[in-house]
Amino acid sequence: MSVSASGSAELPGLADLAALLSDRSLDDAALAARSDEAPETPVLPGVSVLKIGGQSLMDRGRTAVLPLVDEIVAATQRHKLLIGTGGGTRARHAYALAAELGLPTGVLSEIGSAVAGQNATMLGYLLAKHGIPVVEANAFGTLPLRLAEVGAAVFPGMPPYGMWQRVPHEGVIPPYRTDAGCYLVAETYACQQMIFIKDEDGLFTANPKSDPGATFIPEITVDELLARNLPDLVLERGMLELLQNARHVRSVQVVNGLVPGNVTRALAGEHVGTIISAGGSQ
Ligand code: ADP
Ligand code: MG
Repeated sequence: MSVSASGSAELPGLADLAALLSDRSLDDAALAARSDEAPETPVLPGVSVLKIGGQSLMDRGRTAVLPLVDEIVAATQRHKLLIGTGGGTRARHAYALAAELGLPTGVLSEIGSAVAGQNATMLGYLLAKHGIPVVEANAFGTLPLRLAEVGAAVFPGMPPYGMWQRVPHEGVIPPYRTDAGCYLVAETYACQQMIFIKDEDGLFTANPKSDPGATFIPEITVDELLARNLPDLVLERGMLELLQNARHVRSVQVVNGLVPGNVTRALAGEHVGTIISAGGSQ
């Protein structure tokens, strides 16, 4: 058994991993199984990630946004917050134009990023007097300092795939947008919780805006959700696979941010919306 730089004894499997890594393809199945034998180091374990919906919140303007801003500012007294932004109606308009012009998914992805960035800029200016900054993905190295200093930071929610966005099975809409981008921050940093703030109470059996018969689903696993084969979802479909493979954030909550107090209660661990979980054990 060798001793690592930190002075602790290395796990016996790691020597095998080093041999596998030098000998085999990085896609080798045995190598993949060995590669996560060491317990993963949680990077920002005490942090809560919030996603502020683009269409569902920001696009509703001051009546929706200002009370939420007040709630977020109050919450920084008790929680460390990373606040990601969605795109919304402007992104959808740009997707429609670009798709009609025959432009590919990667281009739509770049366009969507710009809109999530606009929403982060606006939210950042509203939070500026509280010292809360906007941090772009290329400056995430400064997040620990920001969190230590002021306890919160805003970030544009689109994952920075840009033109390298995965092409979807069907159509040209980027499959990993701001729900996925915010969630991946929470999962990668092993954050405490991921809360999606939208304009409905959570997940319903169908889109409640177009189907008045839709009923509320308070809690569901990804497997159950896939089995239901719902026509439309409150979260991006790509989220389901991300949740299934999650190591840390194995459940998320979707809450109605138009109801005052919901975000505060969800941050405190209360079940106020829909909890979607990976289910099973990892
Ligand atoms: P965001 O602004 O956060 O990106 P979206 O508009 O993409 O939010 O997604 C939230 C919307 O999803 C809700 O406002 C709702 O109209 C719609 N939706 C579609 N299907 C469902 C469903 N099964 N349950 C709840 N909401 C749904
Ligand atoms: Mg959306």
